[in-house]
Amino acid sequence: MDTDVLVIGGGISGCSLAYFLAKEGVEIILLEKSGLNSQASGANSGSIHGQIPHDVFLEKGEDWALGFGPTLGFMAESVTLWKAMEEMLGADLEFRLTGGLLVAGSDGEMQEVRRKIGIERKFGIQVEVLDKKDLQQIAPYISENMVGGAFYPEEGKANPLLVTPAFANQAERYGVKIIRQTEVESIAIEGRGFTANTTKGAITCRRIGNCAGADAARIGAMVGLKLAVRGHPIQVSVTEPIAPVVEHLVYSASDRLTLKQTRHGSCIIGGGWPSGIDPVTGRLKVESDSMMRNLQIAIQTVPRLRHAQLVRTWPAVVNGTENWRPILGEASNVKGFVMNVFPWMGFTAGPASSRVIADLMLGRRPSTAFEVFLEMD
Ligand SMILES: Cc1cc2nc3c(=O)[nH]c(=O)nc-3n(C[C@H](O)[C@H](O)[C@H](O)COP(=O)(O)OP(=O)(O)OC[C@H]3O[C@@H](n4cnc5c(N)ncnc54)[C@H](O)[C@@H]3O)c2cc1C
Repeated sequence: MDTDVLVIGGGISGCSLAYFLAKEGVEIILLEKSGLNSQASGANSGSIHGQIPHDVFLEKGEDWALGFGPTLGFMAESVTLWKAMEEMLGADLEFRLTGGLLVAGSDGEMQEVRRKIGIERKFGIQVEVLDKKDLQQIAPYISENMVGGAFYPEEGKANPLLVTPAFANQAERYGVKIIRQTEVESIAIEGRGFTANTTKGAITCRRIGNCAGADAARIGAMVGLKLAVRGHPIQVSVTEPIAPVVEHLVYSASDRLTLKQTRHGSCIIGGGWPSGIDPVTGRLKVESDSMMRNLQIAIQTVPRLRHAQLVRTWPAVVNGTENWRPILGEASNVKGFVMNVFPWMGFTAGPASSRVIADLMLGRRPSTAFEVFLEMD
């Protein structure tokens, strides 16, 4: 088999890159080693983020936040794309821009929230400071013990089970050949392109889009690149459907929390708490300490959740980079090999990063304000 672009990975990055390129007439084969949307893109908590993650700010500090700053502009552009995405894909994605609320439980926490807002404003992200009264007015469901917080209107949620399949459907409509259950095992660089050796035979191509998420470093290593992306097992919990309570995307300033309520009423409780790996089977496993702590923070923040039954907690591997910055663009020393890796918050920004990468591959000026984020180890 032969193609112009070989996209490796059938998550949100791979399917959206295939869509944006095929729409412009580029010939594409997309390979997925398992099922489409079977990894992080289908197992995430569905938050559409726009703020600096507070827990990471507390852990890594102000210098880190200033270095991360340019990524915020990119995420803001992603939200603009999200607003148009249901119409663009002709699909209901359960997207809602509810606004994001970061909630503080003490004056000390409030000080840290203010410090983060100061940095966000330097990058054009207008987050509003809330005192206790504002907070209760905007979100009466938040615990009365909370002293204030921050509100950013450009955040929300969508359903991860719907988004990647919608990109894949449209990509197929534009002629993308999607091959499932087929793994790339090695890549040879040849004259004017590549040969990818897969579990189902060889594919020659002129260009490759590396959209392999947590496995992107493994794919990069096949052409001699050292990419600073790793897999991190984390977990998410979901409650039974309950009456509408949680209007916003809620974060806590005291510990890791993302909380939202789906259209169907379930509350999704996450925030990046670590899950484990079973030493015998090697499979991911839920970490009960993480789960308990995550639920405690959720209940402290929204006491009504105390009465909701937990239905399930699941682990999945997120693609992470140490500095939280994406790895996007063509490798300078491997012509035609293009990285499309948006870490930690790739559900939010995967479609926008794909649009930028597609523009670059089409020889166009990217439609999104874009600083080249290419970083190797
Ligand atoms: C539990 C959890 C919660 C999260 N919550 C959020 C959130 O609320 N908001 C947010 O913005 N982000 C969130 N994320 C992060 C987000 O889900 C990821 O950053 C994003 O989905 C990455 O998309 P991707 O397409 O790059 O990777 P993936 O979805 O992992 O897709 C990569 C694909 O490549 C395939 N692949 C790998 N190697 C090969 C190979 N050799 N040959 C063929 N195929 C291969 C894999 O099978 C996989 O399907 C969360 C992640 C997790 C795990």
